Amino acid sequence: MPHPASREPISALTEWWADMGVSVDTALVDALLKSAPKPGKPETPETPAAVVPMRKASRTVSDWAKVARNEARAAQTLEALADAIRAFEGSPLKATSEQAVVCDGIAGASLMVIGEGPGAEEDRRGLPFVGKAGQLLDKMLAAIGRTRSENVFITNVNYWRPGGNRNPEPDELAVCRPFVDRMIELAQPKLIIAAGGVPAVSLLASKDGIMKLRGNEYAYATPDGFSAPIIPILHPAYLLRRPQDKSRAWRDLMLIEKRLAELGG
Ligand code: URA
Repeated sequence: MPHPASREPISALTEWWADMGVSVDTALVDALLKSAPKPGKPETPETPAAVVPMRKASRTVSDWAKVARNEARAAQTLEALADAIRAFEGSPLKATSEQAVVCDGIAGASLMVIGEGPGAEEDRRGLPFVGKAGQLLDKMLAAIGRTRSENVFITNVNYWRPGGNRNPEPDELAVCRPFVDRMIELAQPKLIIAAGGVPAVSLLASKDGIMKLRGNEYAYATPDGFSAPIIPILHPAYLLRRPQDKSRAWRDLMLIEKRLAELGG
């Protein structure tokens, strides 16, 4: 059994009790002092803990999220972060996708767009939002004077394409999240757009869906203390399927333009 305490704190405590006028059970103190390690003799556990190296295959989602957090924190530039994401082995989607799709646009732009994750075209080209939905996103941004060649930075909450155009699963998002947070810290946007329900719900850890979240401003804070306002909008792929909702998207863009002007972006 490990020793409950060492000698010095026990003696100090009993002396303090005595000073405070507390009556002390001396038999109990003697027993404690007897069982405490002798000064100068390092305490050794009776059974040394077995050191078992963690095999890759046995890592859990939270193990991988820790790996991601360490890799992300070590990255001091967006280029270093992009390299760390490409080298990361913790997403199950990596095996079935062509490549990691990390980011595009102007690093350090005041506006950052965060989408859901790559589709087929993005997977093929290695860039976010370059398929049909991406073309609509470019038009939406152009309506408020933003282009990825001048003043927008674009990324996703998941870097590898899920097969069959499904949404990324919570575990797949969880292992990417430290990289997403670090990217926000390094890019230092004045305002973030969450494009669609997946990034909005996951970044805001919200129980509400995109229809409720869109067009409202929230505060987003990374675990390491950077914060920026975030405004969710309808995903451009959704707007391609439901063009009748474009007026909602327009209202949200007007809010984004106004807030960027107020924030000096
Ligand atoms: N949809 C997204 O959310 N992100 C992309 O990169 C492409 C399509």
